[in-house]
Amino acid sequence: MTESRVANFGAGPSALPESVLTEAAQGLLNFNNTGIGIAEISHRSKEFGAYIKDFEEIIREQLDVPSTHSILFVQGGGTGQFSAVVLNLLARHRLLHPDLPYDQRIMDYVVTGSWSKAAADEARRLSAGKAMLNIAADARGHSADGKSFDNIPPHSAYKFSADPALIYYCENETVNGVQFAHEDGAPTAFPFHLLPKNTLLPLVADYSSSFMSRPIPRLADHAIVYAGAQKNVGPAGLTILIVRNDCIVDVDAAARLGAVPVPIGMAYAPYAKNDSMPNTPPVLAVYISGLVMKRNQELGGVAYYEAVNRRKQEKVYEVVKEGEAKGVLRGKVKEGSGSWMNIVFGVVGDGAEGRFLAGAEKKGMKGLKGHRSVGGIRVSLYNAVTEEQTDELVAYIKEFIAEEAA
Ligand code: PLP
Repeated sequence: MTESRVANFGAGPSALPESVLTEAAQGLLNFNNTGIGIAEISHRSKEFGAYIKDFEEIIREQLDVPSTHSILFVQGGGTGQFSAVVLNLLARHRLLHPDLPYDQRIMDYVVTGSWSKAAADEARRLSAGKAMLNIAADARGHSADGKSFDNIPPHSAYKFSADPALIYYCENETVNGVQFAHEDGAPTAFPFHLLPKNTLLPLVADYSSSFMSRPIPRLADHAIVYAGAQKNVGPAGLTILIVRNDCIVDVDAAARLGAVPVPIGMAYAPYAKNDSMPNTPPVLAVYISGLVMKRNQELGGVAYYEAVNRRKQEKVYEVVKEGEAKGVLRGKVKEGSGSWMNIVFGVVGDGAEGRFLAGAEKKGMKGLKGHRSVGGIRVSLYNAVTEEQTDELVAYIKEFIAEEAA
């Protein structure tokens, strides 16, 4: 590793593989032997057109995306999708049921942390007078103190509507460190079995902070899976969507029937029709993300990362448990709900958190401070964080526990 680089445990934008960054530096000067740098070349060039197609194919292969679904590259980040999923799926619902009154046009939101809460708030804002929000489950009601996002709710907590316009959840809550388990039938797995029995369910999942870290359970049952690239895939600026084709609708026809009009940059159909390039895509972000995905492929793809990420998180949760037993650390998430990607815990005692962070910084480990709304420490273990870096962090935490407990 270059000497000046540190171990970056930040929550995002986050570490990228060093070999990719070195290759990208070359591409900035000369993209695929065109003699033109990637930030300068036309997105309409045949070289870039071929590149973005290959990138799409790697995602399709890695995640086993069925032919019923399109892969779209857009801008606007996760926040853009908080709005876009509502607008596109309300348009779809309008086309399916033109005459329903607004109070029978329901959007189901599962709220398990600050990102799904923000998405639900945006849905409420955009749909005022056009649709109703149903909070299908709220994790705060199942928390230790009645107000924290510290758990994935039990299956008995969910109340889904019969024929909603959309059903929304966030697979990994980056700030709060809770994530749905991915073993089918686990008590903290997403309750697919409780969803209405319609085919073509409008199920939407925010995978921003877990995309490509492990396979996506029941991908084919989703209408939309989306992710900002800036955690496991590449730089900020690119948002990746996997959209079932019946959710790519004529939003103008829906607006004529009374649906909320959709800004053209947020409508899915122009992206689907134009190979994700109805306008200028984030060329550099696509390029670097493509390099990351090619490297993933060489390493063994999402199955490889699943195995490595499983080991990484096991080691960190284990040392946090050790710290808890000694009264030095305090876990912040209920057993079975902990995220593989973002592990949050507190450090007990006056000034102890500052000592923890300063000690880590001295050893070249950065990005460990928790989100201001949760406090404490957050260890983000995205794909580019290596097992060696994780081992070094675990060794440091062990040392810290021994010193504080003494
Ligand atoms: N959803 C999740 C799970 C996130 O972690 C984030 C950002 O960290 C967002 C949505 C918002 O994404 P963006 O900053 O790209 O708008």
